[in-house]
Amino acid sequence: MTRLRTTAVHGGREDLADLGVHALPLDLSTTYPVPDQAAGGRALQDLAEGAARAESPVYARLHNPTVARFEQALAALEGTAAAVAFGSGMAAVTAVVQAACVLAGKPHVVAVRPLYGGTDHLLSSGLLGVRTTYATADRVADAITPDTGLVVVETPANPNLDLLDVAAVVARAGTVPVVVDNTFATPVLQNPAALGAAYVLHSATKYLGGHGDVLGGVVACAEERAAELRRIRIVTGAVLHPLGGYLLHRGLATLPLRVEAAQRTAVELARRLAGHPGVGLVRHPSLPGGDPAGLVGTQMGGPGAVLAFTTREDPAAVVARLGLITPAVSLGSVDTLVEHPAALTHRLVPGAEREASGVPGDLLRLSAGLEDVEDLWADLDRALSGACERHYIKPSSSGERALVQTG
Ligand SMILES: *Cc1c(COP(=O)(O)O)cnc(C)c1O
Repeated sequence: MTRLRTTAVHGGREDLADLGVHALPLDLSTTYPVPDQAAGGRALQDLAEGAARAESPVYARLHNPTVARFEQALAALEGTAAAVAFGSGMAAVTAVVQAACVLAGKPHVVAVRPLYGGTDHLLSSGLLGVRTTYATADRVADAITPDTGLVVVETPANPNLDLLDVAAVVARAGTVPVVVDNTFATPVLQNPAALGAAYVLHSATKYLGGHGDVLGGVVACAEERAAELRRIRIVTGAVLHPLGGYLLHRGLATLPLRVEAAQRTAVELARRLAGHPGVGLVRHPSLPGGDPAGLVGTQMGGPGAVLAFTTREDPAAVVARLGLITPAVSLGSVDTLVEHPAALTHRLVPGAEREASGVPGDLLRLSAGLEDVEDLWADLDRALSGACERHYIKPSSSGERALVQTG
């Protein structure tokens, strides 16, 4: 076992020298020649039953070598036997619910809010035929019934940076598998499988890709659970495109450096925002009160690079004055992104329930990028102070870009 930064660079690349290549091979085949059709049939059977690989990939919905390399590298970073990649984070959440609830015949989920708005809506809507009971982290055991197939948690939670004790939730869940959405922490800061989580899930779209140009999801888990997820992925078709697998694998090499740098910036921005007269509350695990259970330094290697805050003024007005920081959903990119959860990512969560889970209607979420912290602060300070000296390029309704004054 190598250390984190080494594993990030070398994971899933062990055989490249033997192949005589340096960069990751990208296999875009949708189908593979099977001159021996009986052998092809055996390979198809193996893959359909959940095998990690077979004599031939047969067809790209069944297996792809480029994606399999990324999965191997991510599993090494999470310290699990296997990982299974999907076309998006939501496809990954869906597959975990299908495996743990639908396949297992246990159509009840216990979930701790807040959760990413899409996950919350998926669990609340009944779209997958499961019922969900929301509980606080300390009441998970009370909410579990004989029908409960899965406990769903996020830490740090999207969007308010609530932390929860994974080992304690796993203990309260008893024999019920726990999925931890590790998107915000990344394997750089936290490995939930080591704390007993059955499934560790990532929206790979965020930090793993890291450049805002690939949509993907991945679940790290034991081989037996991975086999079920592969079986599901084959028939639901929720596959990751091989180019996505290539880009995500490439992104892993710089993941530790990106997360460490963005985290330093987030700590500094959180500290300065907390002292700004235009700001109400600031949520970041680095701040006093941001980590009441003392999980940073134990469960988590650091406070992470996402923070949230409220503004004295209308948050929409503050966002509209930003010039450098990109007003957009998503997070974990090289550039700093800010968004208004109640309006966007958490729009489908009923307002009263959102408020009750600690996400005020005026909260803004900021994902620190890799820019110079002084430039970011200048932008935030100016926007919060009601001044605007910059021109911000706003897409017009026709899709063309016009220069507009936003002050
Ligand atoms: C974005 C996000 C998701 C959903 O991922 P997609 O790749 O957008 O489908 C799930 N969980 C968390 C915590 C997220 O931030």
